[in-house]
Amino acid sequence: MTEAPPGVPLVSGIDVGGTKVLAVETDAGGGVVRTARRETPGRLVEPRLVEDALTAALLDVAEGRDVAAVGLAAAGFVDRAGERVRFAPHLPWRDDPVRDRLAARWGAPVALDNDANCVARAESTYGAARGYDSALVITLGTGIGGAVLLDGTVVRGRNGMAGEFGHMQVVPDGQPCECGRRGCWEQYSSGNALVRLARDQIGRMPTLLDELCGGDPGRLTGLMVSRAAEEGDLLARQAFASVGDWLGVGVANLVAALDPEVVVIGGGVSAAGDRLLEPARAAMSRVLVGSGHRDVPDLVRAHLGPAAGAIGAVDLARSFLT
Ligand SMILES: [Zn+2]
Repeated sequence: MTEAPPGVPLVSGIDVGGTKVLAVETDAGGGVVRTARRETPGRLVEPRLVEDALTAALLDVAEGRDVAAVGLAAAGFVDRAGERVRFAPHLPWRDDPVRDRLAARWGAPVALDNDANCVARAESTYGAARGYDSALVITLGTGIGGAVLLDGTVVRGRNGMAGEFGHMQVVPDGQPCECGRRGCWEQYSSGNALVRLARDQIGRMPTLLDELCGGDPGRLTGLMVSRAAEEGDLLARQAFASVGDWLGVGVANLVAALDPEVVVIGGGVSAAGDRLLEPARAAMSRVLVGSGHRDVPDLVRAHLGPAAGAIGAVDLARSFLT
């Protein structure tokens, strides 16, 4: 980290997730030069408390400089105009005009979008989707986030809710989902799915996970499954293979609908690399209609890592100024 240049107003991007807030400053090439983190106070609190956390992170990054503009990447549904958070399962905002309230509080223009859209924007401008006219960007974290890019622009849809791929039903009457329905894609291909699949097999075969979770499968995390898979654990590798297979099945359906040039996979689960992507590529080719008679899109890992949403938010704020 370098000393903040005095006198140059800050353009910052803030990723507002269900567990943490990440504010960044970037250079002209999208590289992160300064960050600040805060815990997200929760979803059953006054919105003011979450906004206090955003403000604290922003002030840390600003280091006394004026703020020229802020972009927000929010984990929730943002309206088409980018003014309101309509609903966010892990945040207290409900049909809330967040953009204008924070612009008034910070005395600077604020741009607002869904976090997955910001990730797609960042990957399109600086990362794995750069140079492509059409791309699908899928974020595998706790659940599935997604966005469709056409001509470098995120497709927003009528309500601003396009790209919620995670809640497409892939198994009728399947696993219950946090959204209240059953059989959603993210119940089979996400960090949560990885943990559930591994947990269901504990006790049925020898596994390092017994030790890693201290004998309590309820304490199992995605990181434990990743660690075990790296050490060759069969159960953990089977869980990744299943999550990868379901990833490819869902991607094949999206490719059948949209025929993009590239599919970019980001989010924490994508750190597994080919352990996840190889079974996904195999499933995509198996399921995709006419796969022997078309150019099948490349399925690649995202380039930008966990700050992608915040980087995209900086970009959004910059475009807001011009
Ligand atoms: Zn769902």
